[in-house]
Amino acid sequence: MRYGFYLTVLTLTIIGSLSASLRAQDTSKKAKEKGGKARDAAAVPTGVREYTSRNFVVRTDLTPDETKDLLERLETMITQVGRYWGKPNAQIIEMYVVKKPDVWPEGFFPPEAWQSILSGGGLTMSQTTVSVDRFAGTKTLLNAKSIVYAVADRGTPQHEAVHAYCVQTFGTSGPTWFAEGIAELGNYWRDKDVSVQIHPGVMEYLQNTEPVPLTEIVDLRQTTGDSWQNYAWRWALCHMLAFNPNYAARFRPLGLSILAEGNQTFESVYGSMAPEISFEYLQFLEHLDQGYRVDLCSWDWKTKAIGVRGKSQVQSRINAGRGWQATRLLTKADQSYAYTADGEWQLGKEGEKLTADGDEKGQGKLVGVIFDDYKLSEPFELGREGRWTAPQEGALFVRCQDEWNNLADNNGTVTLKLKLAE
Ligand SMILES: [Zn+2]
Repeated sequence: MRYGFYLTVLTLTIIGSLSASLRAQDTSKKAKEKGGKARDAAAVPTGVREYTSRNFVVRTDLTPDETKDLLERLETMITQVGRYWGKPNAQIIEMYVVKKPDVWPEGFFPPEAWQSILSGGGLTMSQTTVSVDRFAGTKTLLNAKSIVYAVADRGTPQHEAVHAYCVQTFGTSGPTWFAEGIAELGNYWRDKDVSVQIHPGVMEYLQNTEPVPLTEIVDLRQTTGDSWQNYAWRWALCHMLAFNPNYAARFRPLGLSILAEGNQTFESVYGSMAPEISFEYLQFLEHLDQGYRVDLCSWDWKTKAIGVRGKSQVQSRINAGRGWQATRLLTKADQSYAYTADGEWQLGKEGEKLTADGDEKGQGKLVGVIFDDYKLSEPFELGREGRWTAPQEGALFVRCQDEWNNLADNNGTVTLKLKLAE
């Protein structure tokens, strides 16, 4: 009988903490049973109320107005996250959201959850039952149930709700870099807006710290619940991969296959692109600020750079609203080139029309950089017309000088022509 090949595996997982004890698992089971029944006043402590919305049941000491606001944000987020992964949330997500810990009686929460809340964080406890077909080696998720414990700080409930969604929908939340990275993406998710808008403290940290290398972030030995600093790097990588058009198309299938099978790793999907990803990830972090758009600053890996000879020239159109753009020119060290950049552009919709010489402060000026072996030279100024001597060999990239986080409202293009100087 085929039935004999099946093996049912029950797994308990805790995301957001370093260890799981048996006691915590028991408590989580009890909480689950309690949560599935009709609510009575006795199920929650005094000062705590239960609220339900389409996808959530939340027990919290927040005020009704605060809870309404939270539920609206959670509902918007879970709808968009479900749409992104192509699987709408199908099961109520149960949450405890704590504003004032002293409202909650001692022993009410599993110890790990309590510890997490007291330290200002959150925890998602999940129980999954998977049927394993030992003949075919396939796994089928029979049921999964998560309970979220989170402080009421903006962001934590959303973050944990993404873990709950992943486990309840896919049976897992994936390796640490992915689970925590997409949970932070969900926390910051805004409809049809991929500009960076993150917590000011996280921004300050990322702007003032030497970047953690890519290989370290995706290292499978990384554990969840380690530090908010590590979460910041995971967010940065996942944000870049999810919204930079060079990698975005692979991010969703990678995620789905990580969530469905668990057999795809960062290396198996992106391994051959690691140098490109690492380069763009570092560029992202170098220019990171609120409002930065990875989609506008994606690197052009396709346009080939070529050397010019005799009277031949290369031509490119440079958009004021983008980051570094390929000129097609392969430079030679110490070689002089003549260039013209015809056209006008504007920094902002109401901005004055500028040539590639820019304004008196140098804003709007055509500037360049040389790319060689995944490294960039120091940027240098060009302009509307002139001669310029290449400091080194490599591919010339240019852009319109402007704040990196303020490119989206720029307008116009210039046509850049380059040839050997006479
Ligand atoms: Zn998390």
